[in-house]
Amino acid sequence: MIKVNKEGQVWVFAEQHLGKIEDTSLELMGRARELANKLGVQVGAVLLGSSVKNAADMLVHYGADTVYMGEHPLLEHYQTSSYSKILYDVIQKYEPQIMLFGATPVGRDLAPHVASAVKAGLTADCTDLQIGRHEIKKTGEVYDNLLFQIRPAFGGNIIATIINYDRWPQMATVREGVMPMPEPDGRRKGGIVEIKVSLSHADLVVEILDEHRRDKTVNLKASRIIVAGGAGVGSRENFRLIWDLANCLGAVPGASRAAVDLGFIDRDHQVGQTGTTVRPSLYIAAGISGAVQHQAGMSDSKKIIAINNDPDAPIFNVAHYKIVGDLNEVIPAMIKAIKEK
Ligand code: FAD
Repeated sequence: MIKVNKEGQVWVFAEQHLGKIEDTSLELMGRARELANKLGVQVGAVLLGSSVKNAADMLVHYGADTVYMGEHPLLEHYQTSSYSKILYDVIQKYEPQIMLFGATPVGRDLAPHVASAVKAGLTADCTDLQIGRHEIKKTGEVYDNLLFQIRPAFGGNIIATIINYDRWPQMATVREGVMPMPEPDGRRKGGIVEIKVSLSHADLVVEILDEHRRDKTVNLKASRIIVAGGAGVGSRENFRLIWDLANCLGAVPGASRAAVDLGFIDRDHQVGQTGTTVRPSLYIAAGISGAVQHQAGMSDSKKIIAINNDPDAPIFNVAHYKIVGDLNEVIPAMIKAIKEK
């Protein structure tokens, strides 16, 4: 049995903005901890920014044994060239066996640059990560302790497990919201290794003069109840029904991609493979057929109520409560019943 690179740590690129760690990176810390425990190695987090010492402490609370911290005024804003160069150097120096990034706009830009620089592979948009063993049938070689990088493929019709047994580190980006958020432990102790950063304006390809962030109008991930509508709702005007039911329940409106594409609601509300992954206490799906790409983003909800006039709609396969009927009758009846309570 060949045990690969057994000393190397499991690393997470800890993305931050103005010193606040992005949720996706914290979610990844939890899974990195689990993977590292299975491998019997430590967890490392790479943190780059302008003034990020507090964020480094937070990463320790979320499970990092070592934070590799690079501070420099010119690292305040993410830039592909500077960030990927520093990551390349630290990977060469410390040789982690696994390197994980959130599949955020920054992670999706940075990870391929780093993977190409260190000549590793990269699996994008994973929805799960496990440790496993693989035998190469042709040669009979067995590789143990490999990272199984799991993600939907072929338009979401299959779930593929991707492994990489001859290039290091094993690298993946992981979708936002698919890993549960770990509980922080303020008593955890960890080390901080300062990365020496020497940068000048001449090293930067782009000069950022100003930054404007569009605040997300909706936080689907944080809401306990989501009322989602699909193409079956029929029109933007009729989507009022979804908003009304959501308001009654203190919920946030969600949507299928078809509803978004048809202009019924803004893209921030989309749930699914190319939208947000959610796991609320209650998910109500009205006029949504339940395509695999939609289910990929909501099937972990604790309770699912589906309203559909087609008794064979696939959404009923994941629903806990099934209402076969016309949403134009069912939703007003639900609103009336809730108001009368
Ligand atoms: P439809 O499939 O058209 O279903 C409408 C449903 O409404 C039907 O089941 C119908 O019976 C029901 N209905 C109609 N009228 C009524 C009524 N009066 N009362 C009750 N029920 C009624 N989709 C997503 O949602 N999220 C994603 O992130 C996503 N990503 C994708 C990524 C890729 C690469 C691809 C290829 C597709 C993706 N899709 C995604 C699209 C997905 O395949 C489906 O096309 C989409 O989810 C369908 O949306 P829908 O269920 O609203 O519409």
